[in-house]
Amino acid sequence: MTEYEYELIGNNYDDTVNVPQDDDIWYRCSNCGRTIPSVPDDNIGCDCGNLFIDKDCWRLVVVDMRKLDVLRNRR
Ligand SMILES: [Zn+2]
Repeated sequence: MTEYEYELIGNNYDDTVNVPQDDDIWYRCSNCGRTIPSVPDDNIGCDCGNLFIDKDCWRLVVVDMRKLDVLRNRR
């Protein structure tokens, strides 16, 4: 699996305050499969609306925490 780009570092968080955030950390919605950066340039959300990041107040909103995977980008 040399093409594997992301490493799963956590899921099943019970609260968004426990979810890590960094330049190399991405969030994946396991409902729609969309991956979004944890430190976006602008407000961003996944396609189904389960994940949303409000950049202005650096707030992560997750509707269903069970459908959040936290990934680290291997570069
Ligand atoms: Zn989604």
